[in-house]
Amino acid sequence: MGMEETKEQSRTGQVVIFGGTFNPVHLAHAHVVKEILRLIVPDRLYVVPAAVPPHKQGRNIVSAEHRVAMLERAMEGLPVVLSDVELKREGKSFTVDTLRALRKEVAGDAELYLTMGVDAFFDFHTWRDEKLILSMAGIIVVNRPGTPHGDLPVEELQGYLTDHIDSGYSWDPERKRFVHPSLCGIVPLSVTPVSPLSSTDVRTCIEQGDRPTDLLHPEVLRYIEDKGLYR
Ligand code: ATP
Repeated sequence: MGMEETKEQSRTGQVVIFGGTFNPVHLAHAHVVKEILRLIVPDRLYVVPAAVPPHKQGRNIVSAEHRVAMLERAMEGLPVVLSDVELKREGKSFTVDTLRALRKEVAGDAELYLTMGVDAFFDFHTWRDEKLILSMAGIIVVNRPGTPHGDLPVEELQGYLTDHIDSGYSWDPERKRFVHPSLCGIVPLSVTPVSPLSSTDVRTCIEQGDRPTDLLHPEVLRYIEDKGLYR
């Protein structure tokens, strides 16, 4: 069996995108990434920091340069692709544009999936071009304890999809996902215990003069302290 054949056979055909502000990236983000690598085994996992308009930057939202530097430290050794696709685009980041850009970078038959915490998912109907997004990519919805519906109850996800997105979604118990005749699937993914932590918790902790050693990768904490971020 040649090398090419082996490689071809090990492809899952799935490319996963994990986007966020990552202000800063914390241990739960890294945990979600590791769980996707373990449970989905995608051909590629893009981590995509969002652009933040310059007028919003400052003490609470640090520059892209800092957020990328922290992501590099937090993702050290993990087989992910850190993408600057949103950072090099002018203006606010819209996911639909990101999907168009990444689509061009991957194999023609690859299935794209966006990843989001369940908190972000319940906001999805407010996103620009949400139906178009769903025609281009599926969604992996990750449980997030400490948020409403944090444990991914199927009935609540179904209710949300029917009321706010499209009534054509139905639960497929075999594939463990919501399917639709013309849109991509929605895949609830229960990752093993993720702490309820958020970037907001990290920033609050630092503002109060504490050291969030158990919320951050040690190199991320070192970077924040060296640069005096979030004070
Ligand atoms: P903030 O507190 O500043 O709103 P955040 O911690 O939610 O930030 P983001 O950068 O907005 O971080 O998150 C990127 C993605 O990671 C989102 O889809 C979010 O739902 C998900 N996420 C963040 N923290 C967790 C967590 N503890 N468990 C599961 N998913 C998470």
